[in-house]
Amino acid sequence: MSVCKYDTIIIGAGAAGLMCAALTGQRSKSVLLLDHSKKLAEKIRISGGGRCNFTNINATPENYLSSSPKFCISALSRYTPRHFTELLDKYQIGYHEKTLGQLFCNNNAQDIINLLDFLNTEANVKRSQGVIVESIDKTMFGFRLNTSIGVFDCETLVIATGGLAVPQIGATGFGYEVAKQFGIGLIKPEPALVPLALSANELHYLAPLSGTSFFSNVSINKTSFQENTLITHRGLSGPAILQISSYWNGNDQVIIDLLPQCNIIEEINNNKSSNKTLENFLSAYFSVRLAKSISEMTQINKQVCQLSKIELTKLSDFIHGFALKPSGTLGFKKAEVTKGGVDCKELSSKSMMANKIDGLFFIGEVVDVTGWLGGYNFQWAWSSAFIAAHSV
Ligand SMILES: Cc1cc2nc3c(=O)[nH]c(=O)nc-3n(C[C@H](O)[C@H](O)[C@H](O)COP(=O)(O)OP(=O)(O)OC[C@H]3O[C@@H](n4cnc5c(N)ncnc54)[C@H](O)[C@@H]3O)c2cc1C
Repeated sequence: MSVCKYDTIIIGAGAAGLMCAALTGQRSKSVLLLDHSKKLAEKIRISGGGRCNFTNINATPENYLSSSPKFCISALSRYTPRHFTELLDKYQIGYHEKTLGQLFCNNNAQDIINLLDFLNTEANVKRSQGVIVESIDKTMFGFRLNTSIGVFDCETLVIATGGLAVPQIGATGFGYEVAKQFGIGLIKPEPALVPLALSANELHYLAPLSGTSFFSNVSINKTSFQENTLITHRGLSGPAILQISSYWNGNDQVIIDLLPQCNIIEEINNNKSSNKTLENFLSAYFSVRLAKSISEMTQINKQVCQLSKIELTKLSDFIHGFALKPSGTLGFKKAEVTKGGVDCKELSSKSMMANKIDGLFFIGEVVDVTGWLGGYNFQWAWSSAFIAAHSV
């Protein structure tokens, strides 16, 4: 049996795997990068609406969810958003800030894939796509992999197979299975940055508003996000909802302030003598459809000048504290990321190596570190890849 030997084998040629392979190769290590998908880095390609929101200039550990909240500090401080933008500057890849520190490619996401591909080639990384890894065994000197293209030995093995979001483009639980095989604990993987579903009862009056989007403050307990909410035929979506979904425990009520920029009672008091119907008055603040629905749902259909104090309070409670109890999420098929994954307590935050298994590393989304919407997840992929590449 012929066995090919590499210093490092990386499984998963997505954002984290490609970055780690290039940086490891730059350190003159022999690297083999394996992926079961025939296409390269599909998630980068479809990310950010095709323009890849590759980082967020304001990224701090507070923008990440994890059962070990301090774990990400080391990686994020050693490889920052500025390091990544310097890399793009060096290769003259244009980008711009869209909003809230979110950086996107001027051209499209393929620019990032091409750059990572180029860096891998330059660093002599051997890459094979469409490969099935059949088994991994620990050996005296590292690991032996049986694959659909042969047997490979390596000293260090990096698992960069991502999470379960969007199985349609090749997401699998491979990394979790490897963790289990080596007795490494997991935090239950669940869909995050995902639209929320509503019950038939709630959809009865909200589904007619499907397609309506409005600026909102969406909260669960003390966590809140001010961005757009979108009503869909199945429930709620839009950036504010995707953000809060990562904090939803399956039972919480979601509170939506439909008008966070102003206080509706003050607005009405400033126009006390207005003869406009409430519906008409509200259409200065909301779309006509939403204004009509608010008037219907609160059953207040009067002229503004006729509103009683009780009606004003009812209206204000509705507009500033619209409470919904989602019936579920739309699951991994519609999620942008997976929260949970390889338990950070099982890994070194300085290197991403498993505490129990010398030479075995986990990086990127497979680890229990989940970023907010807005470039934070790619930043985690780059940062965790960087520290692993300097330790393998
Ligand atoms: C629609 C969408 C849009 C997104 N947009 C953004 C965005 O704009 N900004 C942002 O920060 N984040 C975004 N994300 C999240 C981001 O794409 C991920 O967090 C990031 O790609 C994770 O990098 P990774 O390398 O850990 O995993 P991935 O990029 O998912 O890479 C994992 C790789 O492992 C391979 N693999 C899986 N199973 C196996 C197996 N059994 N054997 C071999 N290989 C395997 C996969 O084929 C894949 O190539 C988006 C996600 C989605 C779904």
